[in-house]
Amino acid sequence: MSDRQTRHRQAMQKLKAHVDERVADATEQRGQLLVFTGNGKGKTTAAWGTVTRALGYGYRVGVVQFIKGQWACGERERLEADPRLEVAIMATGFTWETQNREADTRACGEAWAEAARMLADPGIYLVVLDEITYMLKFGYLDIATVRQALEARPAEQTVIVTGRNAHRELLAMADTVTEMQEVRHGFNAGLEARRGIDY
Ligand code: ATP
Ligand code: MG
Repeated sequence: MSDRQTRHRQAMQKLKAHVDERVADATEQRGQLLVFTGNGKGKTTAAWGTVTRALGYGYRVGVVQFIKGQWACGERERLEADPRLEVAIMATGFTWETQNREADTRACGEAWAEAARMLADPGIYLVVLDEITYMLKFGYLDIATVRQALEARPAEQTVIVTGRNAHRELLAMADTVTEMQEVRHGFNAGLEARRGIDY
């Protein structure tokens, strides 16, 4: 065997031992809280990707979309026929365009009621609270209410929260936090949001 091959083999053996050890250490089994935040693209896409994963194994999934503005959504179109998926969309109120605080708060409360129901249902394996961070940021929803519901949820249930500017208490509670970092976004160079790619 050449020197190079030997060195490569040794390095790989070392890496494998390290990875095996870490895998052996990670044995706790329970539902998790994941937060996908940051200014870069990919938060909602990653959430729907995980929804697809869970549905792929036959689990029940609930998604609540907290912003009405982004109606169209290819993943929802593709998956909504699955009887194991339940999607609740904020029916009226908050979009980037509205400025009616009262209507927004009411709409948010209705969407939250759906979320709270899902968070109390042990039959639901994964709950996605898409763009809920803005509800907290604008004060339409109270962090204490959200924290209580998350803490009281069934032990086997995983929750994904998406949106920019995640509340620090959510970050503190989460098992996994991923911050999508914007390096560049075509939108800033004038590229229009593209069907099937951006929504
Ligand atoms: P996506 O839905 O593509 O995963 P996201 O959930 O990370 O994006 P949001 O802040 O929810 O990002 O943005 C909603 C819409 O704006 C989507 O159409 C998304 O593609 C687009 N978008 C995401 N990031 C940016 C950005 N940095 N600048 C401009 N537009 C963005
Ligand atoms: Mg999003």
